[in-house]
Amino acid sequence: MERGDDVCPVPESGDLPPVSEITIDTSCPACGAPGLRMRSLALEIPYFGGALQTTILCGACGFRHADVLLTNEGPPTRHRLRVRGSSDLNARVVRSSSCTVRVPELGAVMEPSMRSESFISNAEGVLRRFRGVFEFLARNGDSEARRRAARKSLGVLERMIDGREPFTLVLEDPSGNSAILHEAAEVRTLSEREARRLKQNSFTMDLRPDASRARASR
Ligand SMILES: [Zn+2]
Repeated sequence: MERGDDVCPVPESGDLPPVSEITIDTSCPACGAPGLRMRSLALEIPYFGGALQTTILCGACGFRHADVLLTNEGPPTRHRLRVRGSSDLNARVVRSSSCTVRVPELGAVMEPSMRSESFISNAEGVLRRFRGVFEFLARNGDSEARRRAARKSLGVLERMIDGREPFTLVLEDPSGNSAILHEAAEVRTLSEREARRLKQNSFTMDLRPDASRARASR
């Protein structure tokens, strides 16, 4: 894969996996229009096993929410990798929408939210996502002190992206659906208490047939 690019794993052969599309009986959490569509695609991720990529789409407003579910979903897990140089930046990262991503050296946290999407990328791709946030803060932070702090973090981020500054990447996922695929990654099960402390994915949908309310809560 290209460094820093998010990828949608598509099989190289001509036989594409089947995409199924159904209409689900719930209304859009963004605009309230009834009848969302859900597409799902079965994937085989190299070295990782089966996965199901789902995308929920609203035809009225364009709302879109993508997720990747690993078929071998397990207990809540924490993956931690010390990135020591540029070769570690290629470590593959699978992040589900319920996963909290941290880079402690930056004080940066990506928490699950209604808009958080799952992605399959690598450690460098995660840094580039954080860079986008810090660039925004460097321009639009609500005080000069915050804008200056964001600019300083951007300098550190650039050195991390170049492989010149070691850092730690931590993924914590109560659904056990996220992973860092690297031989040096430490993996452990989260205790029930630790899992409860994590923010749960705040995008919730009520799929009862009589429910006209799909909830988007914080
Ligand atoms: Zn909508």
